[in-house]
Amino acid sequence: MKQPLLAINNLCVDYVSPNGVARAVNNVNLTIAPGETLGIAGESGCGKSTLAFAIARLHKAPALISEGEILYNGRDILKMSDKALRDFRWNDVSVVFQSAMNSLNPVITIGEQLTDVILAHKKVSLKDATIKAKELLEIVGIHGDRLSSFPHQLSGGMRQRVVIAVALALEPKLIIMDEPTTALDVVVEREILNELYDLKEKFGFSILFISHDLSLMGEIADRIGVMYAGNLIELGDAKTVFSKPSHPYTKGLIASFPTIHGPKERLYGIPGDPVNLLNLPTGCNFQARCTECMEVCKEKQPELQQLNPGYLAACHIL
Ligand code: ADP
Ligand code: MG
Repeated sequence: MKQPLLAINNLCVDYVSPNGVARAVNNVNLTIAPGETLGIAGESGCGKSTLAFAIARLHKAPALISEGEILYNGRDILKMSDKALRDFRWNDVSVVFQSAMNSLNPVITIGEQLTDVILAHKKVSLKDATIKAKELLEIVGIHGDRLSSFPHQLSGGMRQRVVIAVALALEPKLIIMDEPTTALDVVVEREILNELYDLKEKFGFSILFISHDLSLMGEIADRIGVMYAGNLIELGDAKTVFSKPSHPYTKGLIASFPTIHGPKERLYGIPGDPVNLLNLPTGCNFQARCTECMEVCKEKQPELQQLNPGYLAACHIL
């Protein structure tokens, strides 16, 4: 097997507060292969963004990486110096965060925001950076004339495209996208995702794609990992996770989204609320909401086990 581009080993991320320590990412192991799209799904609060921030080492106090390693091409980014880290970000890994379209600076033209990123990391002239910025805009489907526009002169979809252009600027090998299109309407979302897919074919980068929308993920990801209360509870090829999930939580997540194809069915959501990370039960974190809860689930936390080669799930019924 080829060396993964990214390997996350036993990663734990805690939020430390006077009320206690909330472990938002618990013992997560994941790899991303070159050119792969790995989707991470789960309800709000299950630790997806915390994981994304940690991978880019953009987490800030009170978040603390308390255990584990994050290897990028075999190098542990948790041990990188500030200088190495600056090179790593944007050059190797870039990020598009939730509502990123609002992260553009409102008083600077989008052209300047693009050239700033290029000039900060590459030894090129302003003229060449501007040519590159124009190319990038056109790559994401915006006319090059728009370089002189301010963010408020663009629609939400266009601003989100600009953010993707910024993320592509230095041709990184991995793009982390945390709910990149959640704030957009579904038509624009679809358009942008299609374009993103074409770009991926062209540039060959990997994507870590985070979303609460499993049906979207079923279409765009190669593999899907599902998180609950900071734990990875199912991981496998996208098709199987989406069409034949093993974990009751994944089944519940899928049943809470309408399908576009197929007959109309009643949506069943998952009863109850996610667990309080400061007060986790003994046994399985999902027991109180699980339709298949057994005695053992109240005593012992299930561990991830391999169901098929490359397919893992953590549940006592399996
Ligand atoms: P997701 O992106 O899946 O919605 P997050 O990674 O944002 O989830 O949050 C995971 C958990 O970490 C949440 O349950 C939340 O309670 C906790 N958390 C997030 N940010 C903070 C913070 N700044 N301080 C304390 N706890 C936090
Ligand atoms: Mg989030």
